Amino acid sequence: MGTPVIVDDMVVALNYTLRLESGELVDSTDDDGPIWFIQGRGHVLPGLEDAVAGLGAGDRRSVILSPEQGFGEYDDDAMQVLPRADFPAEVELVPGGEVELYDEEEDVIIPAYITEVDEDEIVLNLNHPLAGETLYFEVEVEEVRPATPEELAHDHVHDSAHEHDEDA
Ligand SMILES: [Zn+2]
Repeated sequence: MGTPVIVDDMVVALNYTLRLESGELVDSTDDDGPIWFIQGRGHVLPGLEDAVAGLGAGDRRSVILSPEQGFGEYDDDAMQVLPRADFPAEVELVPGGEVELYDEEEDVIIPAYITEVDEDEIVLNLNHPLAGETLYFEVEVEEVRPATPEELAHDHVHDSAHEHDEDA
């Protein structure tokens, strides 16, 4: 029949909860509504894309992703000490805060998490906060529809209220 299922280049609205092995709830769409993404574009974790492939609106699934499929194994060596002077004075640096580092060689922005701050130096942890964690998702597909040519060209989902510049 004509019920759309999730294949590449379909727009997906997905509700989910994400818990750790301990049962701790780390993320949920309960408050803000579903996430919208285009399947097959790497907008969400590849393991999550694989798990929802073939599902249709109303379908639910439990999805368990290993650290490798999630945010990587925890790397004890992924710590970096930088001089306080490398950061603009007006930037507030507090443990637990997030900063962005620019990797000139790779031309990418790397998020880092502040673990220690003293007068002269700050210690950054380059592991993702969920590195090393097995991820337990409960997902429910809310909507599946073909992406419009414009959405595919922009590589993001438009909703009816969403207006933006042509070059965005
Ligand atoms: Zn757009």
